[in-house]
Amino acid sequence: MSTIRKEELLKRYFGHTAFRPGQEPLIDALLQGRDVLGVMPTGAGKSVCYQIPALLLPGITLVISPLISLMKDQVTALTQAGVAAAYINSSLTYPQYAEVLRKVRQGAYTIIYVAPERLTTDAFLAFAQTAQISLIAVDEAHCVSQWGQDFRPSYLKIAEFCRNLPQRPPVGAFTATATKEVKEDIVRLLGLRDPLTLTTGFDRPNLYFSVETPKKKDLWLASYLKSRSEQSGIVYCSTRKTVEKVCGNLQRLGLPVTRYHAGLEDEERRTNQEDFIYDRARIMVATNAFGMGIDKSNVSFVVHYNMPKNMESYYQEAGRAGRDGARAECVLLYAPADVQTARFLIENIEDNENLTEEERALVRERDLQRLGKMVGYCKTKDCLRHYILGYFGEQSSLHCQNCSNCSAEMQEYDITTEAQKILSCVVRVERKYDFGLGVTQIVRTLTGSKDMRILELGLDQLPTYGTMHKVERTTIRRYIDHLIDQGYLTLTEDKYPVLHTTEKAKDVLFHGGKVTIVDRKQAKAVSFATAKVAVPADKELYNTLSALRYKIANLEGVPAFVVFSNATLLDMAAKQPVIRPEFLQVSGVGDRKAERYGEAFMQCIREWRKAHA
Ligand code: ADP
Repeated sequence: MSTIRKEELLKRYFGHTAFRPGQEPLIDALLQGRDVLGVMPTGAGKSVCYQIPALLLPGITLVISPLISLMKDQVTALTQAGVAAAYINSSLTYPQYAEVLRKVRQGAYTIIYVAPERLTTDAFLAFAQTAQISLIAVDEAHCVSQWGQDFRPSYLKIAEFCRNLPQRPPVGAFTATATKEVKEDIVRLLGLRDPLTLTTGFDRPNLYFSVETPKKKDLWLASYLKSRSEQSGIVYCSTRKTVEKVCGNLQRLGLPVTRYHAGLEDEERRTNQEDFIYDRARIMVATNAFGMGIDKSNVSFVVHYNMPKNMESYYQEAGRAGRDGARAECVLLYAPADVQTARFLIENIEDNENLTEEERALVRERDLQRLGKMVGYCKTKDCLRHYILGYFGEQSSLHCQNCSNCSAEMQEYDITTEAQKILSCVVRVERKYDFGLGVTQIVRTLTGSKDMRILELGLDQLPTYGTMHKVERTTIRRYIDHLIDQGYLTLTEDKYPVLHTTEKAKDVLFHGGKVTIVDRKQAKAVSFATAKVAVPADKELYNTLSALRYKIANLEGVPAFVVFSNATLLDMAAKQPVIRPEFLQVSGVGDRKAERYGEAFMQCIREWRKAHA
């Protein structure tokens, strides 16, 4: 396959001048008929890897995707770019479905997006037997694995579907989940044959990672947002209720916020999203329902008000910052209570698909393991980037110098006295009662809480009651965690885990053993990396172009990014093209789009230049 051809298509249809890392080898392999597994972080450009082969191969490319809500936009974007595409999912009425299939049979489409559960319907199977299917792309391929964060049993049928085709085409699987188990499952369960497996860099060097444990998250957040008055960012919360609360608080402080969650009316969601995208509201407070398919490049920070359920979600959401390559911050506000909320969400999860009891139990167990890794991220004192990349199976240096742990001054503290108090409290409880106590009750006893339960149990009679009344509860919890990590305490695995001392605890209690903890230097204000806002080449022109894009998108009834992405508008504002060949030089402008929108945008630039001459 000639290189020129591929690159020509990349420019003509998608407006990009060069392939990104990983794209070309994956495309080449598919064109040579070989299966592939492409593991790339969100936003790396997986779609091009199957869209270019789709354009070069005869016949149809099927793209199997679970994200029904995104299919329509993807198809609209392709159609706008001049690629004949359609989608088949449960949002179509039967007559619409029949019409799409009829046109598909006539060879009207190059790319067809299909929801996995549609593959096995009689009508589709009948069609597949006679159609010329040259390529099958499986998007979000981790859905096939019970190790993945979004297991869908319907994905298990894909392998059989492919096998039963008159001629099995090459299969390309794509995902942003890179753990070993998931990768192995994808290859096995999708029945990939000797696939070219390619994992591209998960690192996003322009992102600064930080974990904070403020006593009062609201105060912390307000002061953080106030100090970033020129920047746009997202605040993720784990529940709708928290979104409402946080958004209300910030509004009362006069900050330009809007909100997004699945409980709002469609109309309001749309308006709020656009307010954010067009910078009418700088700050978006949202649940994880926000962000899929959002193409806003100038997001300078993503704050997680609550800890997410797993690292995959965290990295995906945090990764919405700094898409334009400018420095951006990803801050996670951690509180132990977040673990309970996440656990609750996992245990009361609503299934996307009907799982058997056994599958559900397994999925929960894995979800809880993933939660454990997420908590590990919040608690680690090592380099955060190293932790993230390690999780995704990538080697990296031990110190990135661009995260809160690397930039914080660390100090070793002697906490022997505190450790003795904690350990002896646990020992006293063990002696006095047959049952042990959980972390919360031990903390309450140590701080001298007047909680009913504490008094009922007579814990106020213990000599250790109230011995740590001057210490913050969160600090005591941290010490307890540390004592568990260091093997002085164990936590049982019961539904209500209880603390016990180990043999090693005797060293500290009776033999003068010392306990130290490495922590950020105290009383040091947390210094954030000074993130620069992505300043468009000429902000005013950029805003003018963005208003024009808004008008066109409205007229055509498509999302704004389908017309042009922010990155394209930024480049356009920088290059200020006024003739067609110049316009084609803008990143993200292909033939079709130049033809369709070129004149309107160039006219806008001409007028702007005249007014500013
Ligand atoms: P993913 O599916 O991996 O999350 P997408 O396929 O949606 O990512 O691509 C993310 C963004 O990257 C899109 O805006 C796309 O236009 C852009 N992109 C993809 N390939 C390239 C390329 N070779 N050069 C420049 N931009 C690209």
